[in-house]
Amino acid sequence: MKTENLKCPNCMGEMLIKEAEGYYECPFCGSKQKFVETEAETQARYNKQIEEERIRAENERIKSQQEYNLKKEEINSTVNSIKETVNAIDSGMDLLNKGEDIINKTKSFIYKIAAIFISSIVLIILLVIACNVLT
Ligand SMILES: [Zn+2]
Repeated sequence: MKTENLKCPNCMGEMLIKEAEGYYECPFCGSKQKFVETEAETQARYNKQIEEERIRAENERIKSQQEYNLKKEEINSTVNSIKETVNAIDSGMDLLNKGEDIINKTKSFIYKIAAIFISSIVLIILLVIACNVLT
């Protein structure tokens, strides 16, 4: 039977109940005294201890699961932001390619105009020479 207010036989201080361990302990001088309990009380104490351990393990498991879920979410959001970055780079590359295309078309247009212009000048010079030779 456990008593709530047990005096330490050593220093007369009030002893604390160490329920799980099955003894009283004096916080002042450290002396210990085992519970005097029936077999049923011992069994009940053990059962309570086992139940507490089971609850502790269950809480630990739930905590681990929550931490795992949190990590998984973090990883997923990192993967998503990487995907978004890759997409942004892809569309940037598309724009660059389009720009390059426009520049190339413009270049070949200018080259054609230049070729026509130079050909015209050559033709005019040839005509002028021909006129001079004929007169
Ligand atoms: Zn004591």
